[in-house]
Parts: sequence; structure tokens; C-alpha cells
Amino acid sequence: MLDSNSEFTPSTPRLDFALRSQIKEVEKKFARLEILNAAIWELVRDRLNLTGADLDAKILEIDLRDSLEDGVVTAVPLRCPACNRVSSSKGNRCVYCGQEFVGDVFT
Ligand SMILES: [Zn+2]
Repeated sequence: MLDSNSEFTPSTPRLDFALRSQIKEVEKKFARLEILNAAIWELVRDRLNLTGADLDAKILEIDLRDSLEDGVVTAVPLRCPACNRVSSSKGNRCVYCGQEFVGDVFT
């Protein structure tokens, strides 16, 4: 994987080749995940009679779990109100006790 924190050093042909190979692998995996996501969505949508609005609402709900509507979910530690353990904001439930995190869990 590329290390975004590493200091930039002048590239060499060998390094360029290695990076291009890594990028191609990531692009292949990304393309595969796009197909997988589309397949899952279409199966779920059709079987549960969901709409694009349902999907948009869920995307927004998940995006806002880190309190930022920015298209990514950044995990931040948060304390579970039920068991008082520190859990991750990436899920909507405490990983220890299963308590559902409802509303703005950061206030
Ligand atoms: Zn808990």
C-alpha cells in the first residue's frame, strides 16, 4: 500500500513500475467492489421494495456517524452509554454490549 505519510523521494523506473502495479491492483479491486455493491443493492432493493431515496437516507445516516457530511466515515472513539466501554463510531452499535447508538453520539 502507498504510505501517504512518507516523504516524497525522486522516483526511479523500478519504483514507478512497482507503484503502477500497485495502483492497477487497487483499481481492479475497486472495480470488483463497484460490481459487488451494485449487485447487493439491486438484490436488496428488489426483494425489499426499497427505493433510491431509502439508499440515499442510509448513506447520509452512515456518513454522519462521524458528525461530518463528507462522504467518508472516520472512526472516532466514543463511550457507550450502556456499558461505559469505548467503542468505535463506525458502527451504529456498541461492539461490546450491542447498545444501539441513536442520534448524535458525540454530544
Ligand atoms: Zn456498550
